[in-house]
Amino acid sequence: MNHEIAVSKAKEIADRMLAPAARQSDKDARFSSEAVAALGSTGLLGIMLSTDLGGSALGPRTFAAVIAALAEADASAAMVYLMHLCGTATIAGAPSSAAVVQTLKDIAAGRHLTTLAFSEAGSRSHFWAPVSRAKRNGDSVRLSAKKSWVTSAGQAQSYVVSALAPDGSGPTDSTLYLFPSATPGLSVAGPWDGLGMRANASAPMILEDCEVESGLQLTDDGAGFRAMLEIVLPLFNLGTSSVALGLCRAAVAGTATHLNSARFEHLGQTLGESLPTLRAQLATMQIDTDGLAARIDDLIDHLERPRETTMLRVLESKAAAGDIAIAVTSAAMRVCGGAAFSKHLAIERLFRDAHAGAVMAPTGDVLREFIGKAVLGIPLF
Ligand SMILES: Cc1cc2nc3c(=O)[nH]c(=O)nc-3n(C[C@H](O)[C@H](O)[C@H](O)COP(=O)(O)OP(=O)(O)OC[C@H]3O[C@@H](n4cnc5c(N)ncnc54)[C@H](O)[C@@H]3O)c2cc1C
Repeated sequence: MNHEIAVSKAKEIADRMLAPAARQSDKDARFSSEAVAALGSTGLLGIMLSTDLGGSALGPRTFAAVIAALAEADASAAMVYLMHLCGTATIAGAPSSAAVVQTLKDIAAGRHLTTLAFSEAGSRSHFWAPVSRAKRNGDSVRLSAKKSWVTSAGQAQSYVVSALAPDGSGPTDSTLYLFPSATPGLSVAGPWDGLGMRANASAPMILEDCEVESGLQLTDDGAGFRAMLEIVLPLFNLGTSSVALGLCRAAVAGTATHLNSARFEHLGQTLGESLPTLRAQLATMQIDTDGLAARIDDLIDHLERPRETTMLRVLESKAAAGDIAIAVTSAAMRVCGGAAFSKHLAIERLFRDAHAGAVMAPTGDVLREFIGKAVLGIPLF
């Protein structure tokens, strides 16, 4: 599969499956297993894996375009996919034990969904500092932890879990492990009823004295933090920026459709024909959306050809994208007025979904804190 084929497959799934169901999935907070099955059967679950594992060895450009295409129809499904690809990249970076290789082959074959379980009730949005600690138990490790938010909770076949290393001394001395969903003691700890991203099952999970075999330890002891920064963060920030882009594109398209169809009958004109102020706001939405697309292109270029400014771009992209998605979808709410407020249009779902980006760690505030420190030359941690 090449870039164009991957993007056209994503668009096909978005148009045929996601868009028609998005409204009801959001209302019912229903996770779309059908969408995951479609992503699997088209080979999209393994797009970044090497060809020897059965993947397509595609890079960040395809990752971003596929996520944006999915998000334009259903941001919840795009977020599920994004978490899966971040988890998959982490597993692919692990020493290749038989269990790891089999998991990666299952992912490439479309049979396995994974996700990240980093955030903990104890350290909240500071995902880089788990408070749970793994305990060595002969060749295996045991872990008890309260994971506060896990996208695809109860739906994924495995969870990439962080914990303090058994002998770690500092707050970031973590290790990453892969827990299969059938691990005894692993359970979903409550329902998911969020303001936005309602169809992605982002529920809390509990690990009660869960055992993980040594072949499923994904990093060396204490090297979890490095994997979070080097593997997860660039992809996650690019992916959440791409979700934001999909939301902005959907908001522009939905607003344009409304302005071209809603009418002032007494004036014999559509809203768009009648009111320059609405056209001006739509124009600003379009400018912001295209600006975000350009920012994402620039980040992709920095990831394809890493250089000194790459980490700064990684941090900036998610901070900016979160604000732009909120600004564009807020403008769409205002322009579409009562039709948006009374939920006749999809706009209010986009508006709610857009707010998740700024809350998800690293939050917009934390990113600004990091960027400010980076510009001043102050160590980030
Ligand atoms: C839809 C959704 C899906 C998610 N899925 C996952 C998942 O799959 N896996 C996972 O591990 N996590 C996931 N999360 C969790 C997410 O990454 C955060 O950990 C979670 O939202 C914690 O938020 P909090 O408000 O409790 O954090 P808090 O730490 O309580 O933050 C509260 C406020 O303080 C601000 N703040 C915190 N620290 C600083 C600082 N140092 N400087 C400045 N401001 C600061 C924050 O920006 C925020 O405004 C998900 C979250 C959402 C919303």
